[in-house]
Amino acid sequence: MARAGAAGGGTAGTAGTRWGGPTEQQWDALAAEAFTGMKEWRVQHPTATFVEIERAVDERLATLRARMLQDVALASAAARVAETPRVGRPRCPACDAPVEARGARERRVRVTHGQTVALTRDYAVCPACGAGLFPPG
Ligand SMILES: [Zn+2]
Repeated sequence: MARAGAAGGGTAGTAGTRWGGPTEQQWDALAAEAFTGMKEWRVQHPTATFVEIERAVDERLATLRARMLQDVALASAAARVAETPRVGRPRCPACDAPVEARGARERRVRVTHGQTVALTRDYAVCPACGAGLFPPG
């Protein structure tokens, strides 16, 4: 799929982004699950109010939503310092040196509809001043 940048794109930071096949298949599967679940729910609740329908739709889309948030966030170059060439790496806010990876750390983020997204990112350390940071993203 031609997903990388629009015309004239070629942003260096997106090189090597892990994307495509498996991710899309999982999204498709979750979307299909939500659609099927909603159709079944509709049959079982023919007289549901608008509010009830809205809640049912939200519940079924919440899983897909969380998954998409997680996958897109993890696809950002900032999440994977180790795999990013030095020139494309985030820089130390203090001394502007390209940071180096120091192992992955997981961060759990609560999102809407009671879902939790697990973001595994490389923890970065500045080789010049020793400052540790999580690149933004
Ligand atoms: Zn530094």
